[in-house]
Amino acid sequence: MEGLRLDIVTPDKVVLQEEVDYVGAPGVSGEFGILPGHAPMLSALKVGALFFRKGDRTVWTFVSGGFAQVSDNKVTVLAESAELASDIDVERAEQAKARAEKRLSDPQPDTDVVRASLALARAVARISAARR
Ligand code: ATP
Repeated sequence: MEGLRLDIVTPDKVVLQEEVDYVGAPGVSGEFGILPGHAPMLSALKVGALFFRKGDRTVWTFVSGGFAQVSDNKVTVLAESAELASDIDVERAEQAKARAEKRLSDPQPDTDVVRASLALARAVARISAARR
């Protein structure tokens, strides 16, 4: 059977390069799945959880948005940041969540509300991906 290759890349590092059976990704207009033989496509991703299946194993990762490109049985995810669920520091994410919530609950004139909202979304998605 044809395989599918998944690469997850950030500006800092290659997070994952693996042969997989299936990829589930958080597209901006909804979750989508990729099996071998998928037509070429490019989709923007939401901040959220992306997973792959390989045999009876399911592995979750956090992605901070970005893009997924599919062509020739290869899925390339480019994201500003991404981590395997097992590499997520939940305590750090809890602290980032608390900081962002505090900024948003008591905004000051110099508070960047959009930035705090994005930080909150990343923290919540990391905590949720780590618990999968
Ligand atoms: P923080 O405020 O804790 O830095 P952030 O959402 O601003 O969180 P990012 O800018 O998304 O962090 O990521 C910066 C770098 O830190 C990336 O390499 C990312 O993979 C890593 N990183 C951020 N938070 C975590 C975490 N909770 N666990 C593991 N790695 C993390």
